[in-house]
Amino acid sequence: MNYYEIKFTWEADIEDEIVRDVLSAGLAEIGFESFVDSEDGLTAYIAGKHYDEKKLWEVLGGFPLPDIHILYDSTLIEGQDWNEEWEKNYFKPIAIDNKCMIRTSFHEPAEGYEYEIIIDPKMAFGTGNHETTWLMINEILKTDLTGKRVLDMGCGTAVLAILALKKGAATAIGIDIDEWACKNATENARLNNVRNLQVVLGGAGAIAPLATEARFDIIYANINRNILLQDLHAYAAALQPGASLYMSGFYTHDIPVLRTEAERLGLQLVGKAERNDWALLEMRKATT
Ligand code: SAH
Repeated sequence: MNYYEIKFTWEADIEDEIVRDVLSAGLAEIGFESFVDSEDGLTAYIAGKHYDEKKLWEVLGGFPLPDIHILYDSTLIEGQDWNEEWEKNYFKPIAIDNKCMIRTSFHEPAEGYEYEIIIDPKMAFGTGNHETTWLMINEILKTDLTGKRVLDMGCGTAVLAILALKKGAATAIGIDIDEWACKNATENARLNNVRNLQVVLGGAGAIAPLATEARFDIIYANINRNILLQDLHAYAAALQPGASLYMSGFYTHDIPVLRTEAERLGLQLVGKAERNDWALLEMRKATT
C-alpha cells in the first residue's frame, strides 16, 4: 500500500500547537491517518487511495483560524518499508497511569505493568499516543468489565477492544470502516493472545445485525465529532438499558452538541474527561 507524506508549514501569530490541533482535525476528516509534529509544522500521512488534493485545498482554503497561510509539500512513499520506518521512528512505548503499557513487538518488554498490549500499528490509528486513545484507555482501566459484551466502534488497531478483553470482557466486536484497520485489528488480537474479538468491516449500518440477540453492555466510539453526531442513533439503539457509551475524538468545545444529541436519544451524561483540549463523554442509557 502506498502512502503520501505531506509536510505542512505555516507562519502565524497563534501558537503552533493550536494550529497543529485544528489542522490535524481537518485532515482527519478527509482521510489522513497519522500525524507527527515536526519542528516547523506538522507531517501527516494518508493512504494513496484516499488522497484527493482538491479536498486538501478545501480544508486549507476554509481554515478556521485567521491570518494564517499554510504551505505543504507532498511525497509518495511506497509500501512495506514505509510501515517499518514509521513504527521505528514514531511509535514510542506509552504508559497509562503506570497500569497499562502499549508497545510494539520490536520494543523491549516492560516490567511492572498490570496490562501490556502489543500493537503493530501498520498505519491503523490507535497506539495510545493520541490524547483520545489515552482518555479511552484511562476509562477502561477504571471499569469492571467482567463478563461484559463490548463494542469498539472505529476500532483502528483494536487497542481498546484488546484491553477490554484482557480486563475480562466476555466478547468484543471491533468495527472499522477501513479495511486496513480491520486486518491490523485481527493481527493485533493474535499478537496479544486474545480470543473473542470479532472484527467487522463497516460503519454504523453494521451494528444492528450484530446486536439482534443481545445488545451491548458497553460501547466505545473514538472517532470524530461529525461521525459521532451522524451515527449516535445507531449506537444508542444497540445499548442495553443501563449500559454506557464512551465517546471521544472531539474537542471540549464540541461537548454541548454531542451531549444534546445523545440526550435526545435517551442517554444521560454520567462522566466527562479532558486532556489537552480533547474530550471524552460517558453517556448512559436509561434503565427502563
Ligand atoms: N479506537 C482506536 C482508533 C480510533 S481512530 C483508538 O481509540 O485509538 C478512529 C477510527 O475510526 C479509524 O480507524 C477510522 O478508520 C474509523 N472510522 C472512521 N469513520 C468510521 C465510521 N463511520 N464507522 C466506523 N469506523 C470509522
